[in-house]
Amino acid sequence: MKMTSFGALLGAAVFAFAAPASAEDEVVVYSARNEQLIKPIFDAYTKETGVRIKFITDKEGALLQRLKAEGDNTPADMLITVDAGNLWEAAREGSLKPVQSKVLAANIPAHLRDPGNQWFGLSVRARTIFFNNQKVKPADLSTYEDLGSPKWKGRLCLRTSKKVYNQSLVAMMIAEHGEAKAEQVIKSWISNLAADPFPDDTKTLEAIAAGQCDVGIANTYYFGRLVEKKPGLPLGIFWPNQKQNGVHVNVSGAGITKHAKHEKEAVRLLEWLSSEKAQNLFADVNLEYPANPAVKPDPVVAAWGTFKQNPVNVAKAGELQAAAVKLMDRAGYK
Ligand code: FE
Repeated sequence: MKMTSFGALLGAAVFAFAAPASAEDEVVVYSARNEQLIKPIFDAYTKETGVRIKFITDKEGALLQRLKAEGDNTPADMLITVDAGNLWEAAREGSLKPVQSKVLAANIPAHLRDPGNQWFGLSVRARTIFFNNQKVKPADLSTYEDLGSPKWKGRLCLRTSKKVYNQSLVAMMIAEHGEAKAEQVIKSWISNLAADPFPDDTKTLEAIAAGQCDVGIANTYYFGRLVEKKPGLPLGIFWPNQKQNGVHVNVSGAGITKHAKHEKEAVRLLEWLSSEKAQNLFADVNLEYPANPAVKPDPVVAAWGTFKQNPVNVAKAGELQAAAVKLMDRAGYK
């Protein structure tokens, strides 16, 4: 009896020593990017470093809620999500912690990361103008703001204002022009609509291709996916505001959780995700742009041409999101 409990005690002691050692070789990630997008990247990291990555995937809102509810009990070391608005919200709720990293500061341009270093963009999504190339010439297009001019009356398609992508777009317009001018622009868009706002970017692009409208706004990877499935659609891509502030960009990105149990390992993973080796894995799977400017995009994406990005910090998308939602409501943007 005595021997047994001594043995059990010994066993427990050995386990107590062994457990932290092996747990150091893992990172726990909550990801709003789906498994199909992140698993190959994590597998590559594990192969290179031996560090295991445990992850769960869910919708961004659910993950933010979960992090907040779990507080210091959270098993998560890292949050990966799309849209700077969501990353900003996670930071605002106190779910993330600042990371001081020379690697991240060198790899990720300043406008694509939190000024307080709580999150870092890892891929860039460009929200740009698309047109029906049988009805519109690129020379007819110039800026986002110009989509409100009378020549586009009854010719514009937009996605619903309920989507964070459009809230971020409008927030960035407020940052650039101030509320009064931004509201004027949004009102002029609404008066040009050819149809009620669409539930998603793909439906918006399909409406342009079908001739229901002639121009619209969408993220480029939806265009990439659509023309991959249906080549030959009469869709053109246009980079607006090149003589002004540049194309509206947003990010998908990551931050280290405030209560990370494997902080050092998680920071190392985050740094690796910003490196040349990982950037293509992270961006190319979804036809996005690498955040690290030293890395070239996928050839399919590169074929769409190069463009100037709006250099306003994407954190503004979060800071001004509430103002953007109210503005769109006032402007009658459904
Ligand atoms: Fe998307």
